[in-house]
Amino acid sequence: MSKTYAPLNPPRRLLYGPGPTMVDPRVYQAMTKTVVSHLDPYFFEVVEDCREMLRTAFGTTNEFTLAMSGTGSAGMQTAVANFVEPGSKFVVLANGFFCDRISEMGRRQGANVVRLEKAWGEAFDEAEAAAFIRAERPSVVGFVQAETSTGVFQTSKAICAAAHEVGALVIADCVTSLGTMPVELDANGIDIAYSCTQKGLSCPPGLAPVTVSPKAMEWLRNRKTTPADWYLDLKLLADYYEGARRYHHTAPISLFYALREGLLCIHEEGIEQRWARHKAAHEAFVAGIEAMGMEMHVKAGQRLTSLNTPRVPEGIEDLKVRKRLLAATDMEILGGFGPLAGKVFRVGIMGPLATEENVIALVAGLETALREEGFAAKGSGVEAAKAAYAAVVA
Ligand SMILES: *Cc1c(COP(=O)(O)O)cnc(C)c1O
Repeated sequence: MSKTYAPLNPPRRLLYGPGPTMVDPRVYQAMTKTVVSHLDPYFFEVVEDCREMLRTAFGTTNEFTLAMSGTGSAGMQTAVANFVEPGSKFVVLANGFFCDRISEMGRRQGANVVRLEKAWGEAFDEAEAAAFIRAERPSVVGFVQAETSTGVFQTSKAICAAAHEVGALVIADCVTSLGTMPVELDANGIDIAYSCTQKGLSCPPGLAPVTVSPKAMEWLRNRKTTPADWYLDLKLLADYYEGARRYHHTAPISLFYALREGLLCIHEEGIEQRWARHKAAHEAFVAGIEAMGMEMHVKAGQRLTSLNTPRVPEGIEDLKVRKRLLAATDMEILGGFGPLAGKVFRVGIMGPLATEENVIALVAGLETALREEGFAAKGSGVEAAKAAYAAVVA
């Protein structure tokens, strides 16, 4: 007898972690559509729709906007492989886990990586970062706009201005901001940005949206050395996705269907509406956390609205709380890591979950799990979250 396998039956989780996040039901439907070839004119229509809607989400008019095959890290590697040349100076503003990852990619690319450091959970003062850039005079500056390991949002207008003053290009990691918060690429002056599909865009993992300014594209066309990574070479990909439509690799067709549907959901809701919905969910969650007597790790005004990092109360074990929450409600939140291990929860409230009903359910579940672990909540988190929503509507 040959072995038998059970039918595929994944558990139904409510994904309140940093990602992957809840996939919109419409996106699942889109993924069941017939696969066409990667050179079919229909596929390129899908690609064009994605490019156009991605520009809106990024806040850019960049012609060169596309989705790389691969996850967010492939987007990061695309930015580094194409724009950080071996031997060049690469300044990284380092205040979290993903800043470390892009630094490591820079080193592997043979760049001279110079870092300005900040504690995990703090944003850079733009003037301080700008002064560092003027003193170092790098070829490229990299920073993380939405640091998922800490919950910090990094503003960047003065940082980009300083980089441009010294002739440097700016790379921004917009993985957890795209689709949930204003990225404002052009208004900030960011030259190259990347993201992923499984966080703010409510799609499964597998594609990495990337956008490049005309100035950075011109720099790339004039680059004398060949990027070491063939697969991520944007000049080759430009021949596939634009112009000649020459075969490069077989694009993951179904993932492009998913991305198009995810972006269409955003388009129909309206991007500003969607940002407001995420902000309201974030504010209600924070109100709930603070009413219970807990603290947010990141200062008000520097927080992501997509990913929250409440501090784990004194004497409470974060893993036990998370396990209880999952067992009782199927809600998954994550813990901190690196310097924040055991110190914060990481709670993503994105896409279909960023609604009053879901936020209230989350706060209620968390409140119960914390109480069962012995935490004496000061006040009712649920009541405070409800009041915050009532204030938004009023
Ligand atoms: C998730 C994430 C990445 C990496 O994306 P993967 O899809 O896991 O490869 C990079 N940067 C940030 C800020 C992220 O949150």
